[in-house]
Amino acid sequence: MARNEVPYKIYLTENEMPKDWYNVRADMKNKPAPLLNPGTHQPMTAEELGAVFCEDLVAQELDNDTRFIPIPEEIRSFYKMYRPSPLVRAYCLEEKLGTPAKIYYKFEGNNTSGSHKLNSAVAQAYYAKKQGLKGVTTETGAGQWGTALSMACSYFDLDCKVYMVKVSYEQKPFRREVMRVYGASVTPSPSDTTQVGRKILAEHPGTTGSLGCAISEAVEVAVSNPGYRYVLGSVLNQVLLHQSVIGLETKAALDKYGIKPDIIIGCAGGGSNLGGLISPFMGEKLRGEADYRFIAVEPASCPSFTRGVYAYDFADTGMVCPLAKMYTLGSDFIPSANHAGGLRYHGMSPILSQLYDDGMIEAVSVEQTKVFEAAEQFARVEGILPAPESSHAIRVAIDEALKCKENGEEKTIVFGLTGTGYFDLVAYEKFHEGEMNDYIPTDEELAAYRAKLPKVE
Ligand SMILES: *Cc1c(COP(=O)(O)O)cnc(C)c1O
Repeated sequence: MARNEVPYKIYLTENEMPKDWYNVRADMKNKPAPLLNPGTHQPMTAEELGAVFCEDLVAQELDNDTRFIPIPEEIRSFYKMYRPSPLVRAYCLEEKLGTPAKIYYKFEGNNTSGSHKLNSAVAQAYYAKKQGLKGVTTETGAGQWGTALSMACSYFDLDCKVYMVKVSYEQKPFRREVMRVYGASVTPSPSDTTQVGRKILAEHPGTTGSLGCAISEAVEVAVSNPGYRYVLGSVLNQVLLHQSVIGLETKAALDKYGIKPDIIIGCAGGGSNLGGLISPFMGEKLRGEADYRFIAVEPASCPSFTRGVYAYDFADTGMVCPLAKMYTLGSDFIPSANHAGGLRYHGMSPILSQLYDDGMIEAVSVEQTKVFEAAEQFARVEGILPAPESSHAIRVAIDEALKCKENGEEKTIVFGLTGTGYFDLVAYEKFHEGEMNDYIPTDEELAAYRAKLPKVE
């Protein structure tokens, strides 16, 4: 197809927005391993999960068979405020790189929370409301998930209690204020408001917190307050299901122009945007209808796929959550203090973990200065200030496009641009001031965390 026959932005109409989420588990021969009760090591039942999570979300979590799950009309109406999101042809970046590759990105930063997380936040808030709950609790690291959930909760008139990793709470006061605009209460974690928080503070005075620790606090508050449940912004099967809206829209937009991607790239923290983006394409691959290369990109300082092990592990530091079988670095793992690029969770989605173990996905890790270089290169030609997380995908998209240039290959590359970086300017500042280093954990360090994995038969 000649240049410029494809517009810079491929928009879908509201009517073309997906009416169902796609559940990739239905097409997986090897299903993701079940969540286990941390005490008995038996698969979690719907009843046990229902003490922590909303009913309908538990059903989605456990459903390995239903291929399409209808998106309730209330959620579709909310989606229409900021969706369909554009699929952008990166003509300017292609030209700058001088590559014959065709590069597209699906931009999810077009809402106030600044990321794809709103796609699942609104679904989770909707089901909590439908169940007649008073509110939900959650953790947030960098703050995108907390912001997205605050927006969704205010829309459905639900209370929202956010435990924010202390270091982010202090470094990102503006994120906190956005959450408060939407009516959420925000507590720095670890805090003295929970048993688990007090225990962690006693053991590690002066700790600046971690995601795993904030999860433990949020879960404790949910199970000890009637009318509350806990919600999580990534990792879980239900979150990947909601995020499939990204991939379904991407596929519909590409199909409009008869475009078939060769490579699909996404950054991977807990795996939700990548899982959502690739789901419908992965379905085709699993059913033997098409072939694609899928690349997960993770930080070299938190390399769950590339250097982790596939094993049952705790989802949180306080060990109150179910055990999940996933690629993990160990639940005590915390990336080096210098790490500024997000994607700092120790584990990975059980669905993506199974697909990676089956050889259906590739993974690469990238150093953070290289990520910020790519972020700037992208910002300067495509205009958007990308989130550091998203910039991991940009890095590898550029690398693949440069390989195409070397080999004279006209491949079509699609990547997920998950969000914007306006709240990450301290990280950009570190990069500009040359204060960013590329700490990579040693094998010995990783082995020490791995030694603490729970023993599960
Ligand atoms: C949270 C976040 C991610 C990583 O989360 P996943 O669950 O791996 O998708 C990536 N990009 C942005 C902008 C985020 O906010």
